[in-house]
Amino acid sequence: MTAYDPNNIFAKILRGELPAHRVYEDDRALAFLDIMPRAAGHTLVIPKNPARNLLDVDPADLGHVATVAQRIARAQMKAFAADGITLQQFNETAGGQVVFHLHVHVIPRHDGVALRPPATYKASQDELAAAADKIRDALKNL
Ligand code: 5GP
Repeated sequence: MTAYDPNNIFAKILRGELPAHRVYEDDRALAFLDIMPRAAGHTLVIPKNPARNLLDVDPADLGHVATVAQRIARAQMKAFAADGITLQQFNETAGGQVVFHLHVHVIPRHDGVALRPPATYKASQDELAAAADKIRDALKNL
């Protein structure tokens, strides 16, 4: 498998070299909003340790990312009065992966509302900031 590239976009976000709307962080994981949300509140959860994807990630980091994804999902249910949650996780180009630092998409869903197609909608900074506030508030009250 191709080696981990420490200059991928999410590694730069982790190092603070690129901005992101961060909603949750601990010593092993970071959650931040996707800049091209497929629905309002679309969040990405990543491990802090380098991992290209599911195929090379340390199982303990993978487990922690899943735990954080569950917390984000619970917060999104409240923050967006969601009816459900979709998780997505892509591996290698053939699997639909575009950014090569492991990430889990956590997407709030509403009955009868389709996801936007991938990479079709770039949210404004105001929209992302408002969604991030809602998720952070809901996380405080889980
Ligand atoms: P995937 O690799 O799972 O196919 O998709 C990568 C995701 O990262 C996409 O949903 C895309 O919108 C998101 N993305 C790409 N570049 C950036 C960025 O610079 N910041 C943030 N927050 N998300 C990004």
